[in-house]
Amino acid sequence: MTDCLFCKIINGDIPAKKVHEDEYVFAFEDIQPHAPTHVLIVPKKHLRGLKEASAADAELIGRLHLAAAEIARQRGIEDGYRTVLNVGPKSGQSVFHMHVHLLGGRDLKWPPG
Ligand code: AMP
Ligand code: ZN
Repeated sequence: MTDCLFCKIINGDIPAKKVHEDEYVFAFEDIQPHAPTHVLIVPKKHLRGLKEASAADAELIGRLHLAAAEIARQRGIEDGYRTVLNVGPKSGQSVFHMHVHLLGGRDLKWPPG
């Protein structure tokens, strides 16, 4: 998609600090981190959000979370981290290319705000 911030990051048109890349998934540092680890994990294929996903996207959604788990392992934050998928404007979703937030490296409060 041409007018999508995260598609532009995946294509290298906008710079980002890449954390991981494979055939399906791209991960980079969040520009405004809310924790010592705050990584965004996105599908290379443009997908607007969880609401718009279908059964055909099931494997891809799984891959996003498995990439998050691998990054958490690599960073040694397995004592406690969180994956977050904001869905819709009322949740705070501001970029409409599906992304999983990986947050960790500090104590995380529950319930989240
Ligand atoms: P959300 O609010 O769930 O849609 O998350 C969007 C996230 O994208 C926010 O945490 C932003 O800080 C992050 N973000 C926005 N622009 C950029 C960028 N150019 N590079 C990295 N992260 C970004
Ligand atoms: Zn996109």
